[in-house]
Amino acid sequence: MSTLEPPPLAHVAQRASRRAPSPAALAAFLDALTAALPADRVTTLDSARLAASRDGAYLSPLLSAVLPDRLADVVVRPAGTDQLQTVVRLAHAHAVPVVPRGRGTGNYGQAVPLAGGVVVDLSDADRILEVGNGWIHAQAGATFVALEAAARRTGQEIAMMPTTVGSTIGGFLGGGAGGLGSIEHGWLWDGFVQALEVVACPPQDEPRRAYGAQCLPYLHAYGVTGIIATATVKLAPARDWTALLASFPGPAGADATQAGLALLRLDPPPRMVSLDEPALVATYPADPALPAGRHSLRAVVDVSAVDAVTKTVAAHGGRIDKVDAAAVGYVSTLSFNHVTLRAKKARPELCHLQVGGAPLVTDPDAVRAALPGSMLHLDGMRPYLDPADPVRGRGFGGLLLAPFHDAASLYAWIERLQALGVHVVDPHTWLLDGPALPGIRAAAAANDPDGLLNPGKLP
Ligand SMILES: Cc1cc2nc3c(=O)[nH]c(=O)nc-3n(C[C@H](O)[C@H](O)[C@H](O)COP(=O)(O)OP(=O)(O)OC[C@H]3O[C@@H](n4cnc5c(N)ncnc54)[C@H](O)[C@@H]3O)c2cc1C
Repeated sequence: MSTLEPPPLAHVAQRASRRAPSPAALAAFLDALTAALPADRVTTLDSARLAASRDGAYLSPLLSAVLPDRLADVVVRPAGTDQLQTVVRLAHAHAVPVVPRGRGTGNYGQAVPLAGGVVVDLSDADRILEVGNGWIHAQAGATFVALEAAARRTGQEIAMMPTTVGSTIGGFLGGGAGGLGSIEHGWLWDGFVQALEVVACPPQDEPRRAYGAQCLPYLHAYGVTGIIATATVKLAPARDWTALLASFPGPAGADATQAGLALLRLDPPPRMVSLDEPALVATYPADPALPAGRHSLRAVVDVSAVDAVTKTVAAHGGRIDKVDAAAVGYVSTLSFNHVTLRAKKARPELCHLQVGGAPLVTDPDAVRAALPGSMLHLDGMRPYLDPADPVRGRGFGGLLLAPFHDAASLYAWIERLQALGVHVVDPHTWLLDGPALPGIRAAAAANDPDGLLNPGKLP
């Protein structure tokens, strides 16, 4: 029997709802807001409140069931840091909860305003402020499409970014982890963030400035430690990327996995390598480059590596189905959580777990057997940093997708996976967790002593 319990989310949501502003406080806040900001920056329209109160949590059957219908009471779209400071100052004065928001692509319900209040949608604060050698400085609402375009104009590119390239830099730092470029550059926590300007609650005259390791408590903290106003993140020299789609005969996927591992050792390293078994490929839209009944290996590599990839694929019994620079965006949407999105469109009964660790490669059958009817998707990444040998730190993490029954069986599966040595990140909770939690807690106590920033997310 499982000893691992689902988090008490319904209880947490109920407790967070007690932080909701009183009608009188809300009315006074709205009056002050409309007096302080241009009219087109503030809205209480139902459609805007609804759109600003949901995120990608619908991918989880558990979160869909327990997330309350609570909406933001008001949505503000500050144009820049001064207006952001004003909103937070007024919210604090009237004890109104504040939830920062980018594009709402987070998928743990972390952008959902459990206590209502004001959602601060930063997508209009999207200016690229400066591009230097190895860094870019931008407002929180800048999207990765815009950041990458600005970096490319200087012969550089974003070192690492989510596959949801329309999401914002503030939202990625506040709620994401890694993605394109993670094979070479690791995760958010691996030196990607060089500096931040953060608005505390209550704000000081100027935003707080954090550099290097001081930025850590703001990363993947769901905004509970402060609202990122601007960020300076790492750029790398631009490469000439192209996409390759290869396939391998089923049913065993060992050859495809070995070919994938060989690609992770390429120099220059790929920006992305993903692998799927035939059952998962069957849930994707029909594509001659994703042939039925075969394992699929997809990679985004520097054009100079195409010959080496072709030889590697052939040496492991596979064939190249397509090489196309125009397909880089497309193959990115067959990786990371896009896989859950696509698989659930074809099979709504599926539920996902984020997994990592050696058994995904050394004993995938045992990993699959831990979840009845499961399918394994792998993404290349750099799970740990070995400065002496960067290649050694590269490996696969991924997703396990299986038909969902109930919370109890899901947590029994997680326990079974952990017993096999699989590292599981639970995507079915909005509660912050992990080794950074003590630092996040300390920064939240200092920067938000009244607990108004995104209530209900810090356990
Ligand atoms: C199909 C799909 C694929 C995905 N693929 C990836 C992937 O490859 N890699 C990855 O890491 N994630 C991935 N995600 C998750 C999500 O895309 C990332 O978390 C994303 O970068 C969030 O950006 P956003 O602008 O949408 O932020 P939002 O979803 O709006 O916000 C995310 C969190 O950050 C907080 N926040 C927003 N702005 C700020 C700010 N300025 N300061 C402080 N906190 C803030 C919010 O309150 C929320 O808690 C995926 C999600 C989906 C649905």
